[in-house]
Amino acid sequence: MTSYIKKTECKRCGKCCTKGGPVLHIEDKTLVEEGHIPINRIITIRSMEPAHSPHINTVEPAASEMLKISGQGKEWTCAFFQPSLNNCGVYKTRPIECKLLFCEDTAGISAVIGKELLQRSQIIDKNTELFDFVQNHENECPFSMLHEMAGQSRKGTSLPENSRADISKLIAKDLVLRDKGIAHFRFSVEEELFYLGRPMYFSLPYYGLHPEHFLPS
Ligand code: SF4
Repeated sequence: MTSYIKKTECKRCGKCCTKGGPVLHIEDKTLVEEGHIPINRIITIRSMEPAHSPHINTVEPAASEMLKISGQGKEWTCAFFQPSLNNCGVYKTRPIECKLLFCEDTAGISAVIGKELLQRSQIIDKNTELFDFVQNHENECPFSMLHEMAGQSRKGTSLPENSRADISKLIAKDLVLRDKGIAHFRFSVEEELFYLGRPMYFSLPYYGLHPEHFLPS
């Protein structure tokens, strides 16, 4: 029988958790520091990186850096969601977005989206070689540079040879720095996704470009 009683609180059905994990805010910093949310469960979406925004259901360059709970396999289902139990594995220490998200009334979460976001620089110790390495990668391989080089391709204009060569150099530099990070800091795949975000070539399809045309041979 259909219920006409208005639901006023989250019924913990888990549907939101399967659409993607939350983005972390400054308020969530202690959850990371205390190990409730380990960095190997966080993926960094770098500033200007094309990323899916579940709230507007489209892909667009991120307005700023975002630390997002990673997915499960190739799905964006939150890493902490336990499908067999239909449950959150960190419910008592879940991030602020999860506390605010109520699918029948999104006003609470809408008020905080994109505001006071947690950044890698607030988590990694600034007095370390690792911090400098991450900063150097960001300076050498910013997504804003790829956006500038490839933007006209997204508008349907074919890129001149020199722009294609510049994109190839940027993609190669990103991969070289990743290899250095893996060799020097012994990053696991998950740690690499936190410290350096996703490899830049992953974003080429957003610009209508085929990664295989720009990857080093
Ligand atoms: S942290 Fe928990 S409540 Fe939040 S999306 Fe993941 S599984 Fe759901």
